[in-house]
Amino acid sequence: MDDCIFCKIAAGEIPADLVYEDDTVVAFRDLNPQAPTHVLVIPRAHIATLNELKPEQEGIVGRMFSAAKEIAAQEGFAEAGYRTVINCNEAGGQTVFHIHLHLLGGRMMNWPPG
Ligand code: AMP
Repeated sequence: MDDCIFCKIAAGEIPADLVYEDDTVVAFRDLNPQAPTHVLVIPRAHIATLNELKPEQEGIVGRMFSAAKEIAAQEGFAEAGYRTVINCNEAGGQTVFHIHLHLLGGRMMNWPPG
Protein backbone atom coordinates (compact mmCIF):
# COMPACT_ATOMS: atom_id res chain seq x y z
CA MET A 1 0.00 0.00 0.00
CA ASP A 2 1.36 3.39 -1.05
CA ASP A 3 0.82 5.25 2.23
CA CYS A 4 1.72 2.46 4.66
CA ILE A 5 4.86 3.16 6.68
CA PHE A 6 5.53 -0.54 7.30
CA CYS A 7 5.17 -1.36 3.58
CA LYS A 8 7.78 1.34 2.97
CA ILE A 9 10.12 -0.19 5.57
CA ALA A 10 9.64 -3.65 4.01
CA ALA A 11 10.45 -2.19 0.58
CA GLY A 12 13.56 -0.42 1.90
CA GLU A 13 12.08 2.98 1.03
CA ILE A 14 12.46 4.36 4.54
CA PRO A 15 15.19 3.39 7.01
CA ALA A 16 14.75 0.99 9.90
CA ASP A 17 17.12 -0.91 12.16
CA LEU A 18 16.59 -4.33 10.55
CA VAL A 19 17.42 -7.44 12.55
CA TYR A 20 16.01 -10.09 10.19
CA GLU A 21 14.46 -10.45 6.75
CA ASP A 22 13.43 -13.20 4.37
CA ASP A 23 11.01 -13.54 1.46
CA THR A 24 7.97 -13.39 3.74
CA VAL A 25 8.79 -11.20 6.75
CA VAL A 26 10.96 -8.28 7.87
CA ALA A 27 11.93 -7.53 11.48
CA PHE A 28 13.24 -4.24 12.84
CA ARG A 29 13.70 -2.49 16.17
CA ASP A 30 10.77 -0.44 17.48
CA LEU A 31 11.39 3.33 17.48
CA ASN A 32 9.84 3.63 20.94
CA PRO A 33 11.03 0.49 22.74
CA GLN A 34 9.01 -0.82 25.68
CA ALA A 35 11.68 -3.31 26.78
CA PRO A 36 15.47 -3.63 26.42
CA THR A 37 14.74 -5.51 23.19
CA HIS A 38 11.58 -4.52 21.30
CA VAL A 39 11.42 -5.81 17.74
CA LEU A 40 8.51 -5.69 15.29
CA VAL A 41 8.07 -8.60 12.89
CA ILE A 42 5.95 -7.68 9.86
CA PRO A 43 4.84 -9.52 6.74
CA ARG A 44 5.96 -8.13 3.41
CA ALA A 45 2.32 -8.46 2.32
CA HIS A 46 0.05 -5.62 3.42
CA ILE A 47 -2.51 -7.04 5.87
CA ALA A 48 -4.11 -4.15 7.77
CA THR A 49 -5.24 -6.00 10.91
CA LEU A 50 -5.50 -9.54 12.15
CA ASN A 51 -9.19 -9.34 11.22
CA GLU A 52 -8.21 -9.13 7.54
CA LEU A 53 -6.06 -12.29 7.64
CA LYS A 54 -7.25 -14.73 4.96
CA PRO A 55 -7.08 -18.52 5.40
CA GLU A 56 -4.46 -18.75 2.66
CA GLN A 57 -2.29 -16.28 4.63
CA GLU A 58 -2.07 -18.39 7.79
CA GLY A 59 1.45 -19.47 6.86
CA ILE A 60 2.59 -15.84 6.97
CA VAL A 61 1.64 -15.59 10.64
CA GLY A 62 3.48 -18.83 11.32
CA ARG A 63 6.59 -17.37 9.70
CA MET A 64 6.24 -14.21 11.84
CA PHE A 65 6.31 -16.32 15.01
CA SER A 66 9.18 -18.47 13.74
CA ALA A 67 11.19 -15.33 13.01
CA ALA A 68 10.39 -13.96 16.49
CA LYS A 69 11.61 -17.21 18.05
CA GLU A 70 14.85 -17.02 16.09
CA ILE A 71 15.40 -13.37 17.03
CA ALA A 72 14.74 -14.16 20.72
CA ALA A 73 17.50 -16.76 20.54
CA GLN A 74 19.86 -14.34 18.75
CA GLU A 75 19.16 -11.64 21.34
CA GLY A 76 19.93 -14.11 24.13
CA PHE A 77 16.64 -14.19 26.07
CA ALA A 78 14.91 -17.23 24.57
CA GLU A 79 15.42 -19.35 27.68
CA ALA A 80 14.73 -16.56 30.18
CA GLY A 81 11.48 -15.77 28.38
CA TYR A 82 9.87 -13.02 26.40
CA ARG A 83 6.51 -11.76 25.14
CA THR A 84 4.94 -11.73 21.68
CA VAL A 85 1.89 -9.52 21.04
CA ILE A 86 -0.30 -8.57 18.07
CA ASN A 87 -2.58 -5.62 18.83
CA CYS A 88 -5.82 -5.46 16.82
CA ASN A 89 -7.78 -2.26 16.17
CA GLU A 90 -8.47 0.58 18.59
CA ALA A 91 -9.41 -1.34 21.72
CA GLY A 92 -6.40 -3.59 21.21
CA GLY A 93 -4.06 -0.60 21.02
CA GLN A 94 -3.17 -0.89 17.32
CA THR A 95 -1.80 2.36 15.87
CA VAL A 96 -0.11 1.16 12.66
CA PHE A 97 -2.47 -0.66 10.32
CA HIS A 98 -0.12 -3.26 8.84
CA ILE A 99 -0.01 -6.29 11.11
CA HIS A 100 3.07 -6.60 13.26
CA LEU A 101 4.19 -8.97 15.96
CA HIS A 102 5.80 -7.21 18.92
CA LEU A 103 8.72 -9.19 20.37
CA LEU A 104 9.61 -7.87 23.83
CA GLY A 105 12.44 -9.23 25.92
CA GLY A 106 15.22 -8.44 28.32
CA ARG A 107 13.07 -7.68 31.39
CA MET A 108 10.34 -9.27 33.49
CA MET A 109 6.90 -8.80 31.93
CA ASN A 110 3.78 -7.99 33.96
CA TRP A 111 0.41 -9.67 33.67
CA PRO A 112 -2.28 -8.62 32.97
CA PRO A 113 -0.95 -6.16 30.37
CA GLY A 114 -2.33 -2.62 30.46
P1 AMP B 1 0.86 -0.84 17.62
O1 AMP B 1 0.47 0.19 18.62
O2 AMP B 1 0.66 -2.25 18.08
O3 AMP B 1 0.22 -0.58 16.27
O4 AMP B 1 2.42 -0.71 17.42
C1 AMP B 1 3.01 0.17 16.52
C2 AMP B 1 4.46 0.26 16.89
O5 AMP B 1 5.18 0.74 15.78
C3 AMP B 1 4.75 1.18 18.06
O6 AMP B 1 5.40 0.44 19.09
C4 AMP B 1 5.66 2.26 17.45
O7 AMP B 1 6.66 2.68 18.35
C5 AMP B 1 6.24 1.52 16.26
N1 AMP B 1 6.67 2.33 15.13
C6 AMP B 1 5.95 3.25 14.46
N2 AMP B 1 6.66 3.74 13.42
C7 AMP B 1 7.86 3.10 13.45
C8 AMP B 1 9.02 3.16 12.63
N3 AMP B 1 9.11 4.00 11.58
N4 AMP B 1 10.06 2.35 12.94
C9 AMP B 1 9.98 1.53 14.00
N5 AMP B 1 8.91 1.42 14.80
C10 AMP B 1 7.86 2.20 14.53
